Amino acid sequence: MIRQFELVERVKRYDPHADEDALNRGYVFAMRAHGAQTRANGDPYFSHPLEVAGILTHYRLDTASILTALLHDTVEDTNATLEDIKAMFGEEVARLVDGVTKLTRMELQSEHSRQAENFRKLVLAMSEDIRVLLVKLADRLHNMRTLRFLVDLDKRRRIASETMDIYAPLAERMGMQEMKNELEDLAFAELNPHPRDSIFARLSFLREHGGNLIPRIIEQLRETLRINGMDADIVGREKTPYSIWQKMQHNNLNFEQLCDIMAFRLIVPTQEDCYRALGIVHGAYPVIPGRFKDYVSTPKPNGYRSLHTGVFGPERQRIEVQIRTRQMHEVAEYGVAAHWHYKQGGVDHTNGRQYRWLRELLDILEHAGGPEEFLEHTKLEMFQDEVFCFTPKGDLINLPSGATPIDFAYAVHSEIGDKCVGAKINGRLMPLRTALQNGDQIEIITSKAQTPSPTWERFVVTGKARARIRRFIRSKEREQYLQLGRSILDRAFQEEGYDCSDKALEGVLKNFKQASVEDLRAQVGAGNFTARAVVEAVLPGVRKKRSFVEKVVPLGRSRPKKPVAKGQAIPIRGLIPGMALHFAGCCHPLPGDRIVGVVTTGKGVTIHTIDCETLEGFADTPERWIDVAWDADDGDAVHHVGRVQVTVLNEPGSLGSLTTVIARNDGNISNLKITNRTMQFFDILVDIEVRNVAHLIDIIAALRATPPITSADRARR
Ligand code: MN
Repeated sequence: MIRQFELVERVKRYDPHADEDALNRGYVFAMRAHGAQTRANGDPYFSHPLEVAGILTHYRLDTASILTALLHDTVEDTNATLEDIKAMFGEEVARLVDGVTKLTRMELQSEHSRQAENFRKLVLAMSEDIRVLLVKLADRLHNMRTLRFLVDLDKRRRIASETMDIYAPLAERMGMQEMKNELEDLAFAELNPHPRDSIFARLSFLREHGGNLIPRIIEQLRETLRINGMDADIVGREKTPYSIWQKMQHNNLNFEQLCDIMAFRLIVPTQEDCYRALGIVHGAYPVIPGRFKDYVSTPKPNGYRSLHTGVFGPERQRIEVQIRTRQMHEVAEYGVAAHWHYKQGGVDHTNGRQYRWLRELLDILEHAGGPEEFLEHTKLEMFQDEVFCFTPKGDLINLPSGATPIDFAYAVHSEIGDKCVGAKINGRLMPLRTALQNGDQIEIITSKAQTPSPTWERFVVTGKARARIRRFIRSKEREQYLQLGRSILDRAFQEEGYDCSDKALEGVLKNFKQASVEDLRAQVGAGNFTARAVVEAVLPGVRKKRSFVEKVVPLGRSRPKKPVAKGQAIPIRGLIPGMALHFAGCCHPLPGDRIVGVVTTGKGVTIHTIDCETLEGFADTPERWIDVAWDADDGDAVHHVGRVQVTVLNEPGSLGSLTTVIARNDGNISNLKITNRTMQFFDILVDIEVRNVAHLIDIIAALRATPPITSADRARR
């Protein structure tokens, strides 16, 4: 295990201004927090965060990152809380630890190789600070180094393929070649041990067969350069087994055909030297055509710069030669970490550092090459506009930001959207209009009886959800108008003592320019013709009876004297609010209220309470009034909104009592508006979702019984 002073030493070697005291405190805090916990190999658990911190010192990261590495598992695995960390190490470190913790939690639940690209984006989206991702990569690297100690083989495979699919590509994209190679090789060893073994065997055979070529080639390259007056650091290596394996797969080659398994790297002082060295190498050895690439003048998307070429080298072997400067080399090995290191030495390294970091990463990712990369880049730009959520099985669904469980349900399957009645977000039942967050796990609750609700259209954000809801409404609308029109016509004819038969209507279709009896009924339901007009067309000269409106609502201020006879009213059962049926916003009718319907052209029927003042505005069109009745069994399916006018004392806690009383009585506040405020009182309009009028009356009674509330009444307008 790295000892405390060693860790501090390592950091101070590259960052003399590092906060030594904080590092010491971080070391002790993490060690105590993990206490007697152990790893699969029996080591104390604390050795893990310590090694992760050690990996990051290799990348010369700042104190906050090193602290984050030390603390990265404390919130998830020990009694320590984020508040503790904030109190001891400040806001920045707490934020970073929180970021790493969230990434860690997310990977516990996913089965995602099919969706690697989405998952990589999710990881990026959640790593708001690039240092979160660097700590996560180092964490993964150490876990991979110790993977063989895990007993559970399935788990090992899962972690290895996740590393191959998600973390190695992320490391590469961030330009961290060294990290990428090691992650890949460790995962390769777990996933394909046999090919890896045979490649190793073959490599060592070649080594024995031709003697140790690498040092000999290095010596001769050095000599060639020296003769031409150049000095370079040269390293040679065999390519990694995984990259050899990939080449064998992609190019359908066998090992014998795969000659260039050795690569040499020339590190020279300046950029001009790169081209000079290239000239020398090309002058001395036969060039393999098609292998030269100039990433110095045209860097790779991840910032990589180097010259690549292939030659038949000093020992008549095909070799790859890479030529670069020291700085280019560090960028290639350490990626964005190297950028950061160089920037830190610059002038304004305190100023908005993490933002510049993020910009840099996005820059790197955005200046992508191929069409695939470009596509990805355009999606990345939309980061702020996307949210990634999981199904209960761990599949990733990506949605525009602001998306709700309804959008999620439709994204999973149209049927699931249509039948959605509720949603659990991370195990908690939440309203369907809740905006989803990155990493949320959503369970959609469905019911066969459910159909899309017109109210959903107000809060969904995806085109798919909106289109499905609209399509349903359109298909349902005619059905609804037809049902309403049939009831209205039946009633109107009954009042005259006749039946509204298809035959009777067929005779007058021409008068209304309708093609079928159904069309005519639907038009009446939609309010485009009144029932009275149809009655008069079928029964010319029928004596005009006193209309319903004159019977029930004599004009003027007086209110109806006797209730409408039962059995004559049109039931509103089966009519879906928001289509052929609307509840008036002025009087908020509730089940149990006595109600009147007003047919509105093209909109179906609007329901008012019988004493609503708005009705007086319709006094001169009595033919549009219809007698309607609530369903006997209105169930809990539809929530109705009742409006209450409340006056409360202007004192601390009075609003709290108001909302508490309503909630305790099972009412749900859907809107709240302060209409008047004085030194002594607030006047407040409260919209409450209730089952029926009796429910609302209960709530009003409870409000009146509450001390800071001086009055509570149902609001009429
Ligand atoms: Mn860890």
